[in-house]
Amino acid sequence: MVASIKPNRDEVGLTDGLMLIDGKRIAALAGQTWSHSHPATGEEVASFPVAGAQDVDLAVRAARRAFDAGPWPQARARERIRVLRKIADLIREHGDELLKLQALDNSVPLSFGSVYATSSAFVADVFDHHAGWVDKLAGETLPPYQGGDHMVFTLREPVGVVGAVIPWNAPLLLFAQKVAPALAAGCTIVLKPSEYATFAVLRLAALIEEAGLPAGALNIVTGPGDPTGDALINHPMVDKLSFTGSRAVGRRIVAASADRFKRVSLELGGKSPALVFADADVSTAAAITMGTVTLGLSGQVCLAQTRALVHREVHDEFLAMAEMISGMVSYGNPFDPAVTSSPLINTRQMDRVLGLIAEGQAAGARLVCGGSRSEGDLAAGNFVAPTLFTDVSNDMSIAREEIFGPVLSVIPFTDEDEAIRIANDTEYGLAATVWTNDIKRAFRMTKAIRAGTVGINGYQLEPHAAFGGYGQSGLGREGGRGAIESYTEVKTVLLPFTDEMM
Ligand code: NAD
Repeated sequence: MVASIKPNRDEVGLTDGLMLIDGKRIAALAGQTWSHSHPATGEEVASFPVAGAQDVDLAVRAARRAFDAGPWPQARARERIRVLRKIADLIREHGDELLKLQALDNSVPLSFGSVYATSSAFVADVFDHHAGWVDKLAGETLPPYQGGDHMVFTLREPVGVVGAVIPWNAPLLLFAQKVAPALAAGCTIVLKPSEYATFAVLRLAALIEEAGLPAGALNIVTGPGDPTGDALINHPMVDKLSFTGSRAVGRRIVAASADRFKRVSLELGGKSPALVFADADVSTAAAITMGTVTLGLSGQVCLAQTRALVHREVHDEFLAMAEMISGMVSYGNPFDPAVTSSPLINTRQMDRVLGLIAEGQAAGARLVCGGSRSEGDLAAGNFVAPTLFTDVSNDMSIAREEIFGPVLSVIPFTDEDEAIRIANDTEYGLAATVWTNDIKRAFRMTKAIRAGTVGINGYQLEPHAAFGGYGQSGLGREGGRGAIESYTEVKTVLLPFTDEMM
């Protein structure tokens, strides 16, 4: 049996799931709550408030006041840097506790927390990285275009109140990627976590308060898309919407922005290819590619390399290693250090994944392993066995849909042109990996692939590197200069020195 994951509240620092509005911990005005069922066991873990339109209005008004009256947007660079660095320190200090809460949210195993991109250290580094931007967020001085005695320069000012909505798969990291640049730029925020991953975010918000952020600068409203998310994205006092999640909700965000032309950043899904050439280290390519769809979050990752485009010469070698990796996956209680991978987040998602697997089989793809729900001791949770398909053609739904589960589709190819054509034949464009020991080929492929990030013989997220998508994988980038600048407006200042300019 999967051991119970009922929390020892003291051990994990689980609070009562109250929202954070204007520096106060509060329940929803209507008293509505959401009870969180753990994906590994179906047990109820704890509950939290469902914010209605009135609660969201309170939160947005608090953020608006904190923006208009300050003190955060007007704070000196030195003060903002101090608070952001303190947040990073507190995250490091409470790293284990945050990861335990995240495991209570979405069942991502604690063993996975030692992988840099999913660790508390990474979350802390995102705050440190953005702290470093605060005193470098400069405008520019331009030479006069028409001559004359005057100056033209630009200022970067905070965009205003940010409404942020994040998904459940990496709540700590995704929280940081929105909150850190927004705070660094001097914005105030109302953030809604996913209804499937709320507790780690509430704790992280408490650490941010402890670091000295003024009341109202960060507000957390909890609850599902309807009514909570909907009220937030449609609120007229929000200046910018920053969203990570599915394309379907992304479209709603864009629609909600239209009325007042709210600024928008979107991090959406992916159907990323791994291109494996015959001259590559095929075993490593297979191990890492299969790992991205089975280890940790079991493929519930936007950048999972879910389409393996494999040269026909090395197809069998790739398949053998990928199948071996699937045999190393261990499911169970996320607190058990031997557990490598998580269940699917809810039964709806599990049914969707099983439905897509059935479609793949019906379309003629060859199932190498997996393909069904895990039974026996795991029957109470949403576990699907690691699944490997080959002889997949790129027009099958398993090659086109973002499955968000432990499913790898292998698509054989013959030459570079065919590999590029298949790689780019997708509505998405988030990430890709090229596996080859030929440096010239690596660069040819990198230039030809239309994706926001391309890894060569590996893939590693970096807090200071831009991350985002081409096509329907999103709008804008997180990480790096582009991210912080997306939380600013540019103001041009014209300063004449002579009367003829007037
Ligand atoms: P989702 O779109 O269903 O939900 C995301 C968030 O939107 C949740 O907080 C949800 O409550 C909220 N929401 C739902 N309906 C809403 C509405 N009408 N108005 C406002 N908010 C609403 O996505 P999910 O299932 O939580 O997460 C999986 C998706 O996230 C995948 O598509 C994945 O690729 C994507 N994702 C992308 C990245 C990236 O950086 N590109 C990172 C992680 C996840």
